[in-house]
Amino acid sequence: MSLTHLTIAESVKKLESGEISSAELTEAHVRAIEGARALNAFIVETPELAMDQARAVDARHGKGERGVLEGVPLAIKDLFCTKGVQTTAGSKILEGFVPPYESTVTANLWRDGAVMLGKANLDEFAMGSSNITSAYGPVESPWRRQGDNRPLVPGGSSGGSAAAVAARLAPGATGTDTGGSIRQPAAFCGIVGIKPTYGRCSRWGTIAFASSLDQAGAFARTVEDTAIMLGSMAGYDPQDSTSIDLPVPDYRAALGRSVKGLRIGIPKEYRVDGMSGEIDKLWRDGEAWFRDAGAEIVEISLPHTRYALATYYIVAPAECSSNLARYDGVRYGLRVPGKDLTEQYEATRAQGFGAEVKRRILIGTYVLSAGYFDAYYIKAQKVRALIARDFSNAFKSCDLILTPTAPSAAFALGEKTDDPIAMYLNDVFTVPASLAGLPGISVPAGLDSSGLPLGLQLIGRPFDEETVFAGAAALEKAAVFTAVPQIMAV
Ligand code: GLN
Repeated sequence: MSLTHLTIAESVKKLESGEISSAELTEAHVRAIEGARALNAFIVETPELAMDQARAVDARHGKGERGVLEGVPLAIKDLFCTKGVQTTAGSKILEGFVPPYESTVTANLWRDGAVMLGKANLDEFAMGSSNITSAYGPVESPWRRQGDNRPLVPGGSSGGSAAAVAARLAPGATGTDTGGSIRQPAAFCGIVGIKPTYGRCSRWGTIAFASSLDQAGAFARTVEDTAIMLGSMAGYDPQDSTSIDLPVPDYRAALGRSVKGLRIGIPKEYRVDGMSGEIDKLWRDGEAWFRDAGAEIVEISLPHTRYALATYYIVAPAECSSNLARYDGVRYGLRVPGKDLTEQYEATRAQGFGAEVKRRILIGTYVLSAGYFDAYYIKAQKVRALIARDFSNAFKSCDLILTPTAPSAAFALGEKTDDPIAMYLNDVFTVPASLAGLPGISVPAGLDSSGLPLGLQLIGRPFDEETVFAGAAALEKAAVFTAVPQIMAV
């Protein structure tokens, strides 16, 4: 079997037994990345660093304890600061920014022996659902519709990470999810993506978009692989005051738990108007799979869900307008000189930010402005609390919530991508869990009529990623998703 088709779990086994070396495994992925540049999945490739790390892992083989990711090459979303390696957040304003420090999440991965292949492309500052807002060009999905060679979007904002994993350029990748940026691209690319509970992974050294929503997570091709990755990434970090001081459970062990007797909630309000028949069928398949596995299906109500998108598109821009105020040409990246400081700020920000980022900064400063603060921002915070309360009520009668991940399969580059509202609607199923800070996973569960992957989402109680993983493993087993993208490293 080709080395680029191994899962993380398989790679770890073969590396441990000495059947393969990390240098071999890493080199295979480096070559695959070189051969798939047309996808534009990476902003920066780091082949030399990867090979150095791989050789260092090989040199210590058989000596001392092995990390859970010992020798496994990974792609890192270019939102995580990596010491000595350019980190751009997909923005022109950070072009050339080389962080003098490492994010906690990536530091955890390196501590556990992982190897870095490069920095994956993303929507600018993680704002988007299609990876077309990157200043470094759009990412192409490795998938194609049957009989149609038009390039499709990989989803966003972690589009480069998802495309890389689907195209076998990396067995796993980090992502971040503010309103769906791990789950939606995982669904579009036919892979698994987990966003843990807010506070599970440290945000330290991850470039901020909306601080009360941003959370790191993992992409891989199996549920087990995402469990291995998240176990490494997660954990308390005193450098992030919102990181939670709780032990990280053995997520892999949770995969073996039976779902017999689990109550799976189906939110009635999620059967949104105009939902496609295919998505509805997929959702019913998911229910049937759980029923067959001995779980109980219960109807639940999340009445404030209909306000979730509107709430998110007030809260997220408000926080982004504040977080992005630091990019002023003085301390980081791009500087466009002006006749005085104000002009320098204006020119730097005008040239440095793309249209979507500017739109959100404008919306954010508007909803935070003196005259509108109560009407929009405070109101949104109140509705957010109601949305969170809906979930805690629902979890009195169920253990997991099952929904589609996205309202459709991937769209073509250019299709609906010039309509911001149509784009925002893509997040309808993922945003509520983000607002409530809950863990969510997307599992590939079927194909639409044009042969594109569709995902099902499971949402769990706060800090109960174990049940989420157990449910996801059951879905994965029942769905038997074996389809592969048309563009793929051999
Ligand atoms: N698509 C959503 C947005 O554009 C979510 C992005 C994200 O989760 N980073 O804000």
